[in-house]
Amino acid sequence: MKNLLKVLGVGILGVIMAFTTSDKKTIVIDVSHGGLDSGIAANSYKEKDITLEIANKIKALNESSNMEIILTRETDEFLSIHERAEQINELNPDFVISLHVNSAADKERMGKEIFVSDKNIQKDKSGDLAIRLFYDFNDSNVQIKKADFHLLENVKHPTVLIELGYLTNNNDLELLTSEKGQMEIAKSILSAVE
Ligand SMILES: [Zn+2]
Repeated sequence: MKNLLKVLGVGILGVIMAFTTSDKKTIVIDVSHGGLDSGIAANSYKEKDITLEIANKIKALNESSNMEIILTRETDEFLSIHERAEQINELNPDFVISLHVNSAADKERMGKEIFVSDKNIQKDKSGDLAIRLFYDFNDSNVQIKKADFHLLENVKHPTVLIELGYLTNNNDLELLTSEKGQMEIAKSILSAVE
């Protein structure tokens, strides 16, 4: 009996541990650019700052104990695209979202673009995430597109890259740089991975 209890005890503990480790989701938010690489710069704003501000909001908004949000950078530092892909793969995440903002010569051009790649080995799950984001963004101007960006190809986990809007368009600029607009974007992204 004592032996049986011991066996049962270990068994139950094993089940609980397996449950808690497999139940906890890891989400990586790739904060693009950084350091000397500002990314897009327009109207005195820089892509590297906007992506970090929105990523910080996503992390702060997460109240779930079953989900961990990890940012690829938390300061203004430069990471090469190869370092990013390697760092992300080591984290073994459930989902990866790379944040960017855009610019165009045409100031009327606006809206969000969600990119996925057929070369991602988790392309079906990446596509599912893109569709959830498409519906969760409170924006009538969202498109899902295909592109073989380095990160989308080389990360071995479900990955999307989002161009969150155009710094050269007045409506998008307000959304991307205001506290209210950034919160709206952060909430949409969080609800898509929850
Ligand atoms: Zn970018």
